[in-house]
Amino acid sequence: MTRVANFNPGPAALPLSALELARDELLDFEGSGMSILEHSHRGPVYMKVHEEATALFREHARVPAEFDVLFLQGGASQQFAVVPMNLLHAGQSADYALTGVWAEKAFAEAKNVGTARKAADTGDNGRYTRVPTQSELDLDPKAAYFHYATNNTVMGTQFHYAPETGSVPQVLDMSSDILSYPLDWSRIGLVYAGAQKNIGPTGITLVIVRKDLVASGRKDIPVIFRYATQAKEQSLYNTIPTFGVYLVRNTLRWVSAQGGVPALQKVNAEKARLVYAAVDESGGFYRGPVEVASRSVMNAVWNLRTPELESAFVKDAEARGLAGLKGHRIVGGIRASLYNAVPLSDVQKLVTFMNEFRETHG
Ligand code: PMP
Repeated sequence: MTRVANFNPGPAALPLSALELARDELLDFEGSGMSILEHSHRGPVYMKVHEEATALFREHARVPAEFDVLFLQGGASQQFAVVPMNLLHAGQSADYALTGVWAEKAFAEAKNVGTARKAADTGDNGRYTRVPTQSELDLDPKAAYFHYATNNTVMGTQFHYAPETGSVPQVLDMSSDILSYPLDWSRIGLVYAGAQKNIGPTGITLVIVRKDLVASGRKDIPVIFRYATQAKEQSLYNTIPTFGVYLVRNTLRWVSAQGGVPALQKVNAEKARLVYAAVDESGGFYRGPVEVASRSVMNAVWNLRTPELESAFVKDAEARGLAGLKGHRIVGGIRASLYNAVPLSDVQKLVTFMNEFRETHG
């Protein structure tokens, strides 16, 4: 078996140990005589997995007791709508920072549900090459919440500071950087993230929401979309994708074995440093469009002279066992996604390839 270096943006690389454990346990889970896939989602065998996954997430993300941790479905895209459905009451308005295509979609859905306004927009130059500074945020002190995407997966930008919004609770789309650095929960009302980048497979959407916001959530929406429904039922109101939660558990066990989030943060910083150094020290052969202060640690993006040269780069990389480097179709170029489960050694291989490619084509 040859596993390649996987720089996919999501679904993305999973820890090898998480996959190996799933392989070893697939047919007979812990001596129960059946696969975890075949267990009832309300039975004790699955419930133990569910509770371990929840507890491990709480531990690693240092989630305070006043928050509920929910495993939902529908992806982060569903949360674009479900967040305002729950938290944006009649007569209220919500603030959105526009920093990329996903933030734009979240904003558009909020406007389908109620009133939302732009608190910042860094896309006015036709390309979101940075995130806004605190002083650029035009905040409504009465907003129901302030929404932003901590990491912009397509644009390759990331907030490297926690915005200050006074008493307005913050809603964070952390789909592409959850569990990659410690979080200060004091400003936060809700965090959501599709699992398929940093914490597991597709099909699970994590929502961490303050209990008072759950309790005061709107009641004039369908029962299935109320956070209160899933919080009351431990995310088991409907049949949960059990195998997804199981793989989240395996991934979080790997996080424990690595030494937790602070240890991952250190390795992630080194991975990003290596890639950006290869870009910056290429004498202009590789060009990063993103302003240095906004560069993402999770998704590094860069361009070559021509789209043809970029295609050659992706093709040659694939032949060398370096997969998933093609940039998002909207912006083109190259993107290396450097999520938690991407090993440092794979990033070293990428950088070696980048330097060799530059030498042959520069
Ligand atoms: N937000 C961000 C920051 C994302 O990167 C993505 C997916 N790439 C989404 C939202 C949408 O996630 P999903 O496909 O799980 O709906």
